[in-house]
This record gives sequence, structure tokens and C-alpha cells, in this order.
Amino acid sequence: TKPLVRVRDLKMHFPIYAGLFRRRVGEVKAVDGVSFDVMEGETLGLVGESGCGKSTCGRAVLRLYDITSGEISIDGREIGPTPQAKLREMRPTMQMVFQDPQASLNPRMTVEAIIKEPLDEHTKLSEAEKRAKVAELMDAVGLNRKFAKRYPHAFSGGQRQRIGIARALALNPKFIVCDEPIAALDVSIQAQVVNLLEDLQEQFGLTYLFISHDLSMVRHIATRVAVMYLGKVVELAPREALYADPLHPYTRALLSAVPEPDPSLEGKVERIILQGDVPSPSNPPEGCNFCTRCPSVMDICKQIEPEYREVRPGRFTACHLYNDTAD
Ligand code: SF4
Ligand code: MG
Repeated sequence: TKPLVRVRDLKMHFPIYAGLFRRRVGEVKAVDGVSFDVMEGETLGLVGESGCGKSTCGRAVLRLYDITSGEISIDGREIGPTPQAKLREMRPTMQMVFQDPQASLNPRMTVEAIIKEPLDEHTKLSEAEKRAKVAELMDAVGLNRKFAKRYPHAFSGGQRQRIGIARALALNPKFIVCDEPIAALDVSIQAQVVNLLEDLQEQFGLTYLFISHDLSMVRHIATRVAVMYLGKVVELAPREALYADPLHPYTRALLSAVPEPDPSLEGKVERIILQGDVPSPSNPPEGCNFCTRCPSVMDICKQIEPEYREVRPGRFTACHLYNDTAD
């Protein structure tokens, strides 16, 4: 497989203004030098605690923002520094499924109009062709096409997320960023929506960047997993390797807090409690950004930022503990 999406040294810094004259007093480094590939047909899980920058990263990759710097290419096309206006023709290729289906659907539009909107904007199909396509999409996501003229409020949360997914699929995208697509849903229907996303991936050959704070769910759906902390990816690995043998101390701590699915191991996996809070992304520590909380911190960690690199085949991390394992 080859990379469909390639991200290099992506930065998304937001200015902070304060005071009567709205003077610029600093910046939040929400995404601060992130690099990864998303391979064709895979699901790359992007995990981390709330505020780590994972949602901003997903939106930046789709160029929903003007990024601070970095390279992004999708399907061989460079979209990193491209002005918004020129991104239009790339829009159909890359889509987003949002966390809150309630907030992302216009309550004054019928389901048909919502799913049809991207077709209106980006295609020259006739009205009849568009309506036929909407009906097909409703079938694909498991919505009864008889309900096409209803409004979002008439649907349950899970059904509304299906509407959002149908809209994202309308232009036959290759790449979809799913930002916590089930976090706002009832636990009882979360699995249905995850299964639907997996079925659609298979059926349409989709590639996902799957953003979530839920490590158990990501373990189920992801091919590989990237872990973010304070605006940086600290580790990226194939799913099995990451869960069985996490390399970065932050990943270890994060995974030690996940309930153990194997009852025979219950209580045997040591719970790692991190000291202190996550530092502010406007004032990250010198050196390794995890050094203020890391149980394995060394002197070098407070001075030199560890380089993010492949320390074992297919396994990337940024940590001085792996300095000696280079090639
Ligand atoms: Fe911990 Fe040092 Fe590795 Fe950072 S570089 S994660 S502080 S051991
Ligand atoms: Mg978020």
C-alpha cells in the first residue's frame, strides 16, 4: 500500500490577544510540527486527551484552516500552502464527519437537501440525478429513503450521524476525517455507527483518519495509531504493537488507564498515574514537552527536544530513551 495522505511538519498556531487594544501577547501551539502518512485504505487512529490538538490537526489536514506552516498532500496533490480558493477542486476528495451531528446539520433543511448540497456545489448533475444519488446514499447508510423530506429533528442521534455520513460520501471522497464520530451518541448505538463506518470503508475503498479519545474503540477500528500530546505526535505504530508494547512513556500511561479486556490480566497491569497537569500549549516546557510529567525523565530531556523518528521498523516515537536504538 502507498500513502494517500502525507503530512510533514504541520503547524497550526493561533495568536492570543489580550487587553483593551487586543495586543498580541502570545500564541497557542495547537499543532506543533506533526508528521505522518495515512496509507490507502487504512484507518489511522489519532488519539490523545482533550485539548491535545487532535481535532485541530484533523481540520488542518483537510485545510479547513489556513495553516501556519507544513506540507500536506492528498492523492499526490500538494494542498499545504494552497490558498483556500484553489482548494475547491480538491474538496470532493476529502471530507469530514463531525462529532456532533446535531450541530453540523442545518435544522431548516430537509435530509434530502442536506445530502444534496455538496452535489449542488460541486457537480453538474440534473435534479433528478441528484435525487437518485441521495436515495442511493440513504440506502448505503441505512436510512429509509421514504424519510428524505423530513427535517433533522425528526431523527435520533444515531440517524442524524448517518445523515452526516451520507453527506460526507456524496462526492465519492477517498479520504474522510472522522472527528469523534460516536462520542455524542448513546452507548447503545455507538457500535452500530462504528460498524457502518467499517462497512462503508470496505464498500467504497475509503481511507480514514479516525480521531478519538477512546482507546478501546480505536483498538477495535484502527490499522495504525498515532498518539498526540500537547500538539505533537509522540508515538505512531501498528495497532497490535502499540497496545502490546507501547514505547513512549506517555503512551504507556495512557494505555495503563484503559480497562483491561482480558480478565486474567485484571489488576496485573500497573496503572501509571501521571504527576501534574498538561502544561499550557501557549507555554510548553523546554526540551521534551512531556518532561514535566514523565516517570522516566532524564537530564537531557529538559534541554533537548527528542527527534521524532522511526526507532524500529514501522514504529515512530519522539523520546530520548530510544536514542541508542538508532539503526
Ligand atoms: Fe520522558 Fe525524556 Fe522520553 Fe520525554 S524524552 S518522554 S521526558 S524519557
Ligand atoms: Mg475534539
